[in-house]
Amino acid sequence: MKIIVTGGAGFIGGNFVHHMVDKYPDYQIINLDLLTYAGNLETLKPVEDKPNYKFVKGDIADREFVFGLFEEEKPDVVVNFAAESHVDRSITDPESFVRTNVMGTTTLLDACRTYGIKRYHQVSTDEVYGDLPLDRPDLFFTEETPLHTSSPYSSSKASADLFVLAYQRTFGLPVTISRCSNNYGPYHFPEKLIPLIISRALAEEELPVYGTGENVRDWLHVSDHCEAIDLIIHKGKEGEVYNVGGHNERTNLEVVKTILEALDKPESLIKYVKDRPGHDRRYAIDPEKLETELGWKPKYNFDTGIRQTIQWYLDNEDWWKHIINGEYQNYFDNMYGSR
Ligand code: NAD
Repeated sequence: MKIIVTGGAGFIGGNFVHHMVDKYPDYQIINLDLLTYAGNLETLKPVEDKPNYKFVKGDIADREFVFGLFEEEKPDVVVNFAAESHVDRSITDPESFVRTNVMGTTTLLDACRTYGIKRYHQVSTDEVYGDLPLDRPDLFFTEETPLHTSSPYSSSKASADLFVLAYQRTFGLPVTISRCSNNYGPYHFPEKLIPLIISRALAEEELPVYGTGENVRDWLHVSDHCEAIDLIIHKGKEGEVYNVGGHNERTNLEVVKTILEALDKPESLIKYVKDRPGHDRRYAIDPEKLETELGWKPKYNFDTGIRQTIQWYLDNEDWWKHIINGEYQNYFDNMYGSR
């Protein structure tokens, strides 16, 4: 089996490449990534010499390039992680989100239907459902929840999902979609909440928290997410959407305080900053369909997962310090020659 994993130099894609390369030595895993600011080949160091792994630099929205790659590789499966993924950036530059997240997806879908494919899997987000009120803990997102986006990021992801489903209905393309909650774990780019707080707390810098810190996120360990996608591409039903979440709801403030406590740093580092425009209040996933139909069960609860994650950042300071000082961007040149 030959699998193109797009966005495999990013956080979740990188973890997924590790998972697949290690678990399936007989599969060929091709990591296609543009290496934007969020792409970091240092994440792939542990697998880069494995015979079943290959890296290709390229843009999923570049039709000529994508079709050329499919012509050459004839993949069996495509798993699309590549995206502009940061909500704050989508507020300042929505167009790049349309280009990569929507047009990149339709380009891949067109290549899949031209060259034939056993499975196209789209990695989506619970943010396509919008948000839930803080005072209704009984409500959860199911696969039937209507799409109701808040940010340019989530709008671009919802649009991509609709194209994926339309390609199944119109062209019979064998697709699946997973919609997950917030991931955490190793190799998370330090602009996102958990690694940002860990790295700044270690340096005893101010810790920015939006608004009052009461927004609730449903944290999913990235390894549990990778297991879910592995299951879906092998056993998921064509045309289906699967929600992935670990029932680990925490307010942002709880997350920050947990990290401070684990690192033995004072809460006085917390600095409340002006809230993000349109900030979603609560995300909470109901993963029952994935659990009952495919037998998925998360291995991590947040309290153990966050402690292991903090330890990973302590043990791998070079990885995130290279990002903060920009050195990670030279890794491609060192490995593959200058761009
Ligand atoms: P990330 O920003 O860490 O990584 C994205 C990767 O995509 C980077 O390596 C980047 O170089 C690459 N990329 C960007 N534009 C590209 C292009 N045009 N062509 C090829 N590669 C390109 O993102 P992530 O956090 O790993 O998220 C992966 C996927 O999961 C995204 O689709 C995101 O929407 C989704 N998701 C993430 C979370 C989360 O908590 N991180 C939650 C729900 C859904």
